[in-house]
Amino acid sequence: MGINSNNMYLDTKTQPIDISLMENKTIPVICPWCDRIVKVAKWAVTRGDKIAPTHGICEECLRLVLEK
Ligand SMILES: [Zn+2]
Repeated sequence: MGINSNNMYLDTKTQPIDISLMENKTIPVICPWCDRIVKVAKWAVTRGDKIAPTHGICEECLRLVLEK
């Protein structure tokens, strides 16, 4: 499995948004290497938007990947 570092970490930069249209959702961050939930992230999403689990490597798998 290739590693796309662009998708590995969440972009924490904030952009100007209309807060009244946003709502906070809890989104699981799943490690694609071991299929475990790494953590649960709180995201502000546009009201009505579908949410989907996002992916982020967990510390354990990151270590294994870096060792290879
Ligand atoms: Zn993992």
